[in-house]
Amino acid sequence: MLFTDIIRRKRDGGELGDEDIALFVNGLADESIAAEQVAALAMAIYLNSMNFDETSKLTVAMANSGTVLDWSGEDLDGPVVDKHSTGGVGDKVSFLLAPIAAACGCYVPMISGRGLGHTGGTTDKAESIPGYRTAPDFETFKKIVKTTGCAIIGQTADLAPADRRLYAIRDVTATVASIPLITASILSKKIAAGLGALVMDVKSGNGAFMESFERSEALAHSIIKTAARAGVATHAVITDMNEVLGTTAGNAVEIAESVRFLRNEQREHRLDEVVMALSAEMLVAGGIESDREAAKRRCGDAVESGRAAEVFGRMVAALGGPADIVENYDRYLPRAPVIRPVHAKGIVSAVDTLAVGNAIIELGGGRHKVGEQLDLSVGFTDIAAIGTRLDGERPLAVVHAASEKDADVAERSLLAACSLSEDAPEATPVIYEILDGDA
Ligand code: URA
Repeated sequence: MLFTDIIRRKRDGGELGDEDIALFVNGLADESIAAEQVAALAMAIYLNSMNFDETSKLTVAMANSGTVLDWSGEDLDGPVVDKHSTGGVGDKVSFLLAPIAAACGCYVPMISGRGLGHTGGTTDKAESIPGYRTAPDFETFKKIVKTTGCAIIGQTADLAPADRRLYAIRDVTATVASIPLITASILSKKIAAGLGALVMDVKSGNGAFMESFERSEALAHSIIKTAARAGVATHAVITDMNEVLGTTAGNAVEIAESVRFLRNEQREHRLDEVVMALSAEMLVAGGIESDREAAKRRCGDAVESGRAAEVFGRMVAALGGPADIVENYDRYLPRAPVIRPVHAKGIVSAVDTLAVGNAIIELGGGRHKVGEQLDLSVGFTDIAAIGTRLDGERPLAVVHAASEKDADVAERSLLAACSLSEDAPEATPVIYEILDGDA
């Protein structure tokens, strides 16, 4: 069969069968299918979608395209649970939630992704910590998860290699925001990681791939149903992404905010709500707690007692980073040469979050093309949340840039992305809905 027959079938609205999907996934993994053909099929799927059967088959085939981890022989005394986000701006939740869940008795083998479209990537952010290895061998990865309770690494060449290639091509061909492709991409990595349970953070809003609540809910249902067929119990939390999460967006700047959170020094309320809801859900999905409020209290205590910070510090050191990252993060994280506040007047009433994500790409903190090196020091800090009154003293945000010229561009983009008004906008929820595996 020719690969062009498969592209044509999907282009014309047809259904892909077992053989088509096997050919596609094998060709992705061994690179026997050219990037332009992969891009053409991704666009055909984006436009004509896939039904549940096709999505399930693609997911399982991509999961089996490389190594599949098995934790059953490791004699762990807690559940193997992970969280994955559909992607947002300022989303540093993984760096908080993995150590919190581990401090509460879960084992979290987190295999994260790089930046995708306008959204930041956990792997890129982790690499802003000097020495941190995002691609250890599996034995090291397993050992760190076993001894520390969690390890956040990047996608390795052996784990779901078909997704690795498809992900990179989708990133630069405007084919990310497809429910079946996101479902297969996320779940293939999670199934390959050998999880017992999964919690999904499905982002909804103008900084998410799914802008409307209805599309976000459809994505949550697609992931839950597909995961159930593959035997992974999955809960989904639909969370707001109509503004940056927390006060920073970029790479190193998000690690700094994460450490301040774990040190219990700065817990921006929206970020706190999302982290507590998701980490509590991990305890519930993993069977450690049955009551969500009790689970939240336990997670809060893990932060306040310093246990989560301690786990984070041990994980960073085990992966090759500095042993005193929690105490001295400022000493290690890269700093941009130009740091400039952006001022405006009025009450922040709305944010074009996708435009903020794109401004970070323009600063050099995200990619225009596959494989591009990032400037991990750039981004925004001190971002004023919606509802903040700016009176000339408090900036809208602080730009971190490689040059004055880059800072000028970022300043203009940020001002254009934020609406200011005389009146305070209505407060909106941070957590929209929690769906458990029975949904
Ligand atoms: N995260 C992933 O891993 N894949 C997607 O397609 C979107 C978000």
